[in-house]
Amino acid sequence: MKKARIIKIVSNRYEVLDEDKQRFICVAMGKLRKAKSPVVGDMVEIEHYDDRWAIERVLVRKNELIRPSIANVDQAIIVMSAKDPDFSTTLVDRLIFQVVYANIQPILCFTKMDLVEKDDPIYAQIEDYRKSGYALYLSGKGYDDDKLVCALQGKISVLCGQSGAGKSSLLNRIEPSFQLQTQEISKALGRGKHTTRHCELHAVAGGWVGDTPGFSSMDFQYMDIAKLAARIPDFKDYLGMCRFKDCIHEKEPDCYIMKMVEEGKISRIRYQNYVDIVAVIKQRKIKY
Ligand code: GDP
Repeated sequence: MKKARIIKIVSNRYEVLDEDKQRFICVAMGKLRKAKSPVVGDMVEIEHYDDRWAIERVLVRKNELIRPSIANVDQAIIVMSAKDPDFSTTLVDRLIFQVVYANIQPILCFTKMDLVEKDDPIYAQIEDYRKSGYALYLSGKGYDDDKLVCALQGKISVLCGQSGAGKSSLLNRIEPSFQLQTQEISKALGRGKHTTRHCELHAVAGGWVGDTPGFSSMDFQYMDIAKLAARIPDFKDYLGMCRFKDCIHEKEPDCYIMKMVEEGKISRIRYQNYVDIVAVIKQRKIKY
């Protein structure tokens, strides 16, 4: 019995990497696929039979994305362009909320920094994220991506952000083989594109990068407000200090989170974006 990680699935063919970085092609038994269909990122136990390797067991997942199907994601790189499309703290914060709600660590990467002037208001917004303790990397022509590369090493990451934010440019810059890897997939899938299940982690900068998750900026209705509030990194140090145990930091008296916003300890931008999302979640609840 060996422990391994699934890095690629094409139909019912599972490519796994064991602890010594050896690759094996495995099958998954029907009963296993029914109980808990293995997905990329899964840690599994594999066993060798006469002529093949088979996945015997899927180990407990620390988290799981549905679209794309990836388990055990360590971090999500939230990619936002400084310009073209315009920088938006609303969008960055909505992505942060989606990511932390899925129990994934957010990392911010602001691209196209070469397009902004020295006195651009974006610098104050960047400072606001830094002050709040977010891991943050600036990227673009003239910037080096060494620190971001270090952050990717040994981790399973996904990149998210709107179209045009610079996600593929960034991956191509830091991992020259990335384009080749994705081109090969398009070629291989060219024929049976709609019938073949395919999901893969790409080898990037000593780590693994999965497909872009389909977080849509309005997809909040499934969230539990208390759970969201408890997972927002900016609030973390001040939880459990409000007068009411079930405080959702909206308009309750003696709310410690609101007090910290007033004192400048919590970003007012993030707090306002949180309150806006609370309203969105509540609206949905009334509807159904
Ligand atoms: P994606 O949709 O998020 O994958 O975005 P792309 O990587 O396709 O980039 C969208 C456009 O932005 C392309 O025309 C890129 O050449 C351009 N772009 C990406 N990164 C940068 C950057 O750092 N600086 C500048 N000036 N342009 C960039």
